[in-house]
Parts: sequence; structure tokens; C-alpha cells
Amino acid sequence: MDLVIRGATVYDGTGGPPCLADVGVSGGTIAAVGDLTREAGATEVAATGLALAPGFIDVHSHDDFAVFLTPEMDFKVAQGVTTTVVGNCGLGAAPHEAAQRYLPFFGADAHRDRLPAWTTYADYLDAVDRHPPSLNVAVLVGHGTLRFDVMGNDRRPPSDRELAGMLDTLAAGLDAGCIGYSSGLVYEPGRYSQTDELVTLAQEMAQSGGVYASHMRNEGDGLLDAVAETIRIGADGGVPVQISHHKASGRSAWGLVHDSLALIERARSRGVDVTADQYPYTAGSTALFAVLQNHEERAHGVGDVEWERITLASAPRHPEWERRSIADLAAELHADPVEAARAVVDAEGYGAVVVMETMNEDDVRTVMGHPSTMIGSDGIPTFGGKPHPRLYGTFPRVLGHYARDAGVFTLAEAIRRMTAMPAAKFGLAGRGAIEPGAAADLVLFDPATIDDTGTYDEPRRYPAGVTAVWVGGTRVMHDGAHTGERPGRALRRARD
Ligand SMILES: [Zn+2]
Repeated sequence: MDLVIRGATVYDGTGGPPCLADVGVSGGTIAAVGDLTREAGATEVAATGLALAPGFIDVHSHDDFAVFLTPEMDFKVAQGVTTTVVGNCGLGAAPHEAAQRYLPFFGADAHRDRLPAWTTYADYLDAVDRHPPSLNVAVLVGHGTLRFDVMGNDRRPPSDRELAGMLDTLAAGLDAGCIGYSSGLVYEPGRYSQTDELVTLAQEMAQSGGVYASHMRNEGDGLLDAVAETIRIGADGGVPVQISHHKASGRSAWGLVHDSLALIERARSRGVDVTADQYPYTAGSTALFAVLQNHEERAHGVGDVEWERITLASAPRHPEWERRSIADLAAELHADPVEAARAVVDAEGYGAVVVMETMNEDDVRTVMGHPSTMIGSDGIPTFGGKPHPRLYGTFPRVLGHYARDAGVFTLAEAIRRMTAMPAAKFGLAGRGAIEPGAAADLVLFDPATIDDTGTYDEPRRYPAGVTAVWVGGTRVMHDGAHTGERPGRALRRARD
């Protein structure tokens, strides 16, 4: 045994009641759970009074570039996250040329030279192994990247040849170990795709396994149609479905989550494997470019827009605009808000990231309490700026604010939604559990104090209450500080 964590209250990820036990780790794997005797040479960690859980799986991240540019990934591992699922919202890491256009969104344009070289998804996964970050990385193929690669931003269906090109890249990605594909249907170019195209791509995964994860076409008044489309893609494609960041966005849509959850329940009773993920805040965050485009084209995919509730999170060329609302900037410019938003987009391009206060607290709790919901941060790892605090605080906030303080669910159930449930859905075998043979991805925390500590003004704060985090048995966080270790690797899904 290399490591024994002694006397913790162990939550094994199944959602059942915890038990007091010692957990022994050997060679990166959990070797034993129970009453363990002392062994010479094993590191002992006294954990009485603390909770020990499987490391959290962030099923909805945008860490594709961050794992190379900030390989310690402190904003994630400080939360207890040990696996990040990248490639969400259609924004995939390959083909590399098409993916590079997302760099400004992360304020990472100037850091381009620090990225390793890759072309395909196979290369990307290999690059993760060659330049390991502190946590594990599982990869979704991004539909937007596939589509841009073959046909740019054309607002038309793909030709047979273009579709065949997309299918080839998807198949190669799945062969390399990607765990599914994602779409972002409010963003260019995903928004120009029709349902059939998405079904055809899903069918490519039907035999081999792979999840279809979607940032749906509409999270506002059109939420229910969008959920129905998503379920149809899963049903007709014969694949499991993940609704990304399930929410009702904009006042006029508030309350619709009761109906969207009912649609999920009905589909599940018909045998469609549909689940969702959520970040635990009433504000969202995305590129101002997309908000403005949806508004100007009356697509309403991001919900009703209230410019006074939309605040700049990052504006790399104009940091003085950060934390100011579009309405406020408009008043200063003597412009209307749409003109002001246009001026910001003209000045910053994809680098203008906003925080949007669009959700209702009751809806957040309703979605979270539903058994179809797992947890995903949707954090946007920008250089500079004031990113949405979900980047640093999602998982502790669910455990502290929502499970412990608000009683939305038990701590054991909250942990299940971050561990065993996502591991099963995304085919991450041997993860998300505390049992002999499972990977020693572990988080030790104080259930009495765990919570996020960030705010919209000061988002870059580590959460409270996380005592230690191990990835594959190697300690990456120690008493609130990163150890500098980078034991992560690419997690590849075997095509079955
Ligand atoms: Zn999204």
C-alpha cells in the first residue's frame, strides 16, 4: 500500500449512506476499503471527521486549451474535480485549424505558441498524455468544429461529400477514444444545421457507443421544442443523450423546466437514455457575439435579453469594461444597448465574454433536485477578466449551499450526481467509485464548511473546505495549495 486515508466518512459514489472506513491505495488504484492495518512505507492521512468521495467528474467543461496552457488546472482540482470532459457546446479541439478560432474566446490568442501541435482527435489525446495536466481529460468531438472544417459558416445543409467528411472525422475521433459528440445550436456554425444532419452523425455512434451532448437550439421560450429535438436525435440516432446546462433562460421562460423535466421523464420511460447537467447559479455566461447574433436574428435561443442584466466578464482589449453592464455602457456611449453591444463585439470579437442574469432560483433547484441531473461547471477558463464564478466554485457550491444548507438533496446523492452517475453515462470505466480496483481519484473535504467563496467581482477564489485531492493516487491539492503534480491523462473509451 502506498497510501492509507484513515477514518474518513466514505461516500462511495452510489448515493447510499456513507460508512466509516479506511481507504488504501496502491499503484494509483484503490486497493482496499475497510479496517486497514498499518503498513510500513505507506503514507498515512488522518481523515476523522472528514468526508471522502470519488473525485468529481466535470461533465461540461471548456478546458480543451486550458489543459495545456494552465496544466495545473488549479481552478478545477481545487474543487475536487479529477476528470474534465472537454469539447462541449460543439466547440471541439480538432481538426486543429478549425478549433484555433475559439482561442480568442478564452483570451488565449497571445498564448497560441505554447500549445503543443495536434491535428486530429487522436493527436489531441496523445498530446494530453505527452503534456499531462493535473487532472484526467475525456473528449467529446465538437459538431461545430467538424462543420466549420468542411463548410465554414455556410448557412445551408452540407452536401453529401461534406457530410461524409464530417462523419469521417467523427468516426476517427471515436476510434481514437472520444466519448461522444457535442453540438452548440445557438452558435455558429452549429445553428445552421438541421435535425437530420445531427441524427446522421448520431447514427455513426450507435453501434460503437458514444453520447450526444447538446447545447440546445433554444433555452428560452422555445425550450420544450429544443428538448424534443434533442430527444429525437438520441432516439433516431440510437444513442444516449445529454442535455447540456439544463435551464429556462429569460423571464418569459421561467417555470418551463417543469415541462422539460416531464419530457425527459417521458422519453426515459420509452427507453431513451436522456439525462442532463447543470451549473448551480442563476446567471449564465457566453460570448457576447452569440447573444447579439441571437437577438438580431430574433432566434431567442439564449432567452429574452435584458441588457441591464448582461455584464462583461472579459474584454481583453478594454479591461475597464469588465463588470459593467451593456445598458450602462450604452448610456455612456449615448447609444442604444444593441449598438453598444455591437461596438463591444466590433472591438473585442469573440473575446467579449458576458455574464447574464437570466435564471430563476426555483428553477435551478427544481432541475437540481430531479434525478436526471448531473453536475457540470460550464466554466470558461479565460486569461484575465472576471470569469463566471462557476469556473472555481461549481462542485463545492452544490455540496455546501445546495445539499447541506438548502437541502435540495442528500450529500450522498449530490456526490453520486458528480461521480458514479456521470462515469456510467460517459463510459468512464473504473472511475467515480470508491471500491477496490477503481482509480484512486479521490477528494477529502469537510462537509461542514465546503462551499464556493467566489463572487462575480472576485471570482478567482478557491473554495472552502476541500482538504486534499488525489488523481490516480497522486496528491494534487494539499491544505488549499496545489502540489505542482500533474498525474492526469487522457481517458479513452473503448469502442464496444
Ligand atoms: Zn453551452
